[in-house]
Amino acid sequence: MINDTPNPVPPVPSPSPETSAPAAAPVGPAGAPRRRGFVPRRKVCRFCAEQVAQVDYKQVPIIRTFVTDTGKILSSRITGTCSKHQRQLARAIKRNRIVAFLPFSSF
Ligand SMILES: [Zn+2]
Repeated sequence: MINDTPNPVPPVPSPSPETSAPAAAPVGPAGAPRRRGFVPRRKVCRFCAEQVAQVDYKQVPIIRTFVTDTGKILSSRITGTCSKHQRQLARAIKRNRIVAFLPFSSF
């Protein structure tokens, strides 16, 4: 086998695809955000986790965490509260409004 090329040209380093390709936008074309690195975490009912049989309206510091700054009751979709405890919680919040531990609304 005879190879007469005196100075074999080294192969031109082709630009690697990951560096040459434009950075992919995290938001898709339809505007749907692809939350990369987002791990969907299973929400668990806080009262079930603490094995609370009946939500106590007198535990204002706990109940306050289920109310927005404007005084609205947070939905169970946001907090992960189960339906049984969400009903008890709603009643406790309404009770707390009447005894003025929680605001009906604050602007
Ligand atoms: Zn629960």
